[in-house]
Amino acid sequence: MNEVKEKIDTLTKERAWLEIRLDNLENNINEIKKLISKDTKIMAVVKANAYGHGIVEISKKLFSLGIRDFAVATLEEAITLRENNIKGNILILGYTNITNIKYILKYDLIQTIVDYEYANKISKLRLNTKIKAHIKINTGMNRLGENYKNISKIKEIFNMDNINILGTYTHLCVSDSLKREDVTFTQNQINNFYNLIDNLKKSGYNPGKIHLQSSYGLLNYPGLVCDYVRTGIIMYGIHSQKNMKTKININLKPVLSLKARITSIKTIEANETVGYGRKYKSPSIKKIASVGVGYADGYPRNLSGKDPVIQIKESYAKIIGRICMDQLMIDVSNIENIKEEDAITLVGNTPLISIEELASMSGTITNELLSRMGSRLKRIIK
Ligand SMILES: *Cc1c(COP(=O)(O)O)cnc(C)c1O
Repeated sequence: MNEVKEKIDTLTKERAWLEIRLDNLENNINEIKKLISKDTKIMAVVKANAYGHGIVEISKKLFSLGIRDFAVATLEEAITLRENNIKGNILILGYTNITNIKYILKYDLIQTIVDYEYANKISKLRLNTKIKAHIKINTGMNRLGENYKNISKIKEIFNMDNINILGTYTHLCVSDSLKREDVTFTQNQINNFYNLIDNLKKSGYNPGKIHLQSSYGLLNYPGLVCDYVRTGIIMYGIHSQKNMKTKININLKPVLSLKARITSIKTIEANETVGYGRKYKSPSIKKIASVGVGYADGYPRNLSGKDPVIQIKESYAKIIGRICMDQLMIDVSNIENIKEEDAITLVGNTPLISIEELASMSGTITNELLSRMGSRLKRIIK
């Protein structure tokens, strides 16, 4: 038997696993490309283990699709990419401790200048070479970035030692909303950013590559002239929330599914309870099954009691009782021909088990559920 197949067979005997469809990732990249001009490139946001999809596998596939620009949140994520031979540009979107700036050089990374004070500290280090950097401009998110109004401070950063400015960017904070006041706010962010860029250029400073849109910046404010779009969530084929309205619609295909196996099947009498806290009580005789996946695998515990469903073959079954750390129980009374070791799908491509649906029930966004998905699960790449 061929080695790859043997490996996959072994992996699929796990109690639970993630399936990653790289063909869907390719579809999503092609869809995003249709929205951007030929002068704009995709900067693939692969932070948080590529939103739970597996940073190395996802980045390798993206590289094979021609992506040469990656964004991560932390130095450690950037080093992971380099240690796995990912070439190209890697921008760290977050803060890197000043004592670790040497690794920006060692691994040929690009650091975000989070504000004027941060740049000042870097300029005082003893380095042999300048570090590559993009300046972050705060236009209203008030997280990282030097305020767009502090033009003279921003210009000073360009003249500082140790820093080679290759880009300038900002981040939009309500670009996912089409409410009038939110659109006005975003439009102001956009205008203030471009005015700053003009000012810099007119004064002889080179802002380098400019970028401001993440997924919803792209879908709601298409056509902005810039060098990159920093796409995260839509690259993985899903929306941040269920029923998102966007100015532009694209044909996204989810990349990730969560699957697990039935480990035990039993019949319980009427009025028996299931699981911790005895939260589920059977109204009648029931056939129930235990499944080898729980909240420690990323399936949210607060869905307990909200009647989330899972798919088993062509049918759906409800999760009953409290979701445990490593297991959960389902009501399979109406499903015939199931047996131990049968696989079920907890997160997949049909609406009832979409990550958007689960995020909605769980009171959060898909980004959170995905990024916490599967820290102890194997990923099967399809
Ligand atoms: C996470 C992040 C992104 C990607 O956001 P999505 O909404 O997932 O596309 C882009 N830019 C910055 C600065 C981020 O932190």
